[in-house]
Amino acid sequence: MKNYLKILTTFLLVAIAFFACSSDDSGNEDNGQTTNQAPSGFTASVTSITETTASINWTQATDADGDTVTYTVTLQGSELASSLSVLTLDVTALTPSTNYSGTVVASDGNGGSSSASFSFSTASTTTSLHLAFAEFDADNTDIMLSGSNVVIESNGLPNHTSPYWSNTTERTAIDPMGNTLVTPAAAENHPLFVEPTVTSYEMMAPGNIDDFNGSYTLTVSANPQLAATSTSTGLGPIGIAVSGSMIYNDEEGPNIPLDGAVGSLDYTAAHTGPQSYHYHLETKAWSDDDQELIGIIADGFFLYGRRDYPSNEYPTDLDASGGHFGPTPHNPDGEYHYHIQNDLYLNQFYILFPGDYQGTPSNIQ
Ligand SMILES: [Zn+2]
Ligand SMILES: [Zn+2]
Repeated sequence: MKNYLKILTTFLLVAIAFFACSSDDSGNEDNGQTTNQAPSGFTASVTSITETTASINWTQATDADGDTVTYTVTLQGSELASSLSVLTLDVTALTPSTNYSGTVVASDGNGGSSSASFSFSTASTTTSLHLAFAEFDADNTDIMLSGSNVVIESNGLPNHTSPYWSNTTERTAIDPMGNTLVTPAAAENHPLFVEPTVTSYEMMAPGNIDDFNGSYTLTVSANPQLAATSTSTGLGPIGIAVSGSMIYNDEEGPNIPLDGAVGSLDYTAAHTGPQSYHYHLETKAWSDDDQELIGIIADGFFLYGRRDYPSNEYPTDLDASGGHFGPTPHNPDGEYHYHIQNDLYLNQFYILFPGDYQGTPSNIQ
């Protein structure tokens, strides 16, 4: 047994010497006693991980020669710090919900080194829904967190009265091609049906609210950010209102302004369309020159009524999209949000959201 150990030890020494001699930058002349040995026997770990910070820790490396060991930390291929004598390094400005990996390299100052690797994932940004989502109709919408995103699902139906609910009056409309479109009478009025007031059966668009039997889904960041460049809005849904129905912009077709269709809008500036009931203008059913939440726009920012919180004045610092940074009834600390702009349209209306998106829009589908 003793002989065996002696042979093994000799073999290892020869092997190390051979390895060291094979290196062409051997600074220390090999006199048979000063062959440098790399530091070894250490591990790295990561603690205190948040959305944007983490603490990288490592154990003391052993250096057989008694050399002073220093450490270099690399993250994602970039050197964060070098010549450290401590055993920890705090990292900041990380991106939430992101996988990171790196190495700690222990060096003995004599050309010997060894490394320990680590990896971790930062926390997701949000663990609870924004308070504004509590305003959305609980029957018509389903709102949930999915990682760092919020998923808003809606059946597209409004939670309020309208002459566009099914009713016992048959009506006809002429489409742009000259075809007559008949909306048949129902056996009875829907419980939320009300007689048309600002529109009329003659002017109403074809189709009833409850003809729609589909759904819409919007997925946005739970922590939306302003984009480097704005994006114009298109036809179809550009946001989801708190009622459950869709928000449209100020066009009624490809480059067709809303003007000619205004007569078909009900008292809350909505009508049925090729797809479903939707709003174009200030939603009088629940917001009339006030601070109410209207809904969420497809870039993840909320849309509020014409007046600002908490002043109850018209904001004077809005950008071209009606947006600004400031407190809202759902976030007194302040965040970027849109307002209905207090600019008259056709002398009596207020456009809900003409665009552009100042964030990055997702499709509502
Ligand atoms: Zn429309
Ligand atoms: Zn505001």
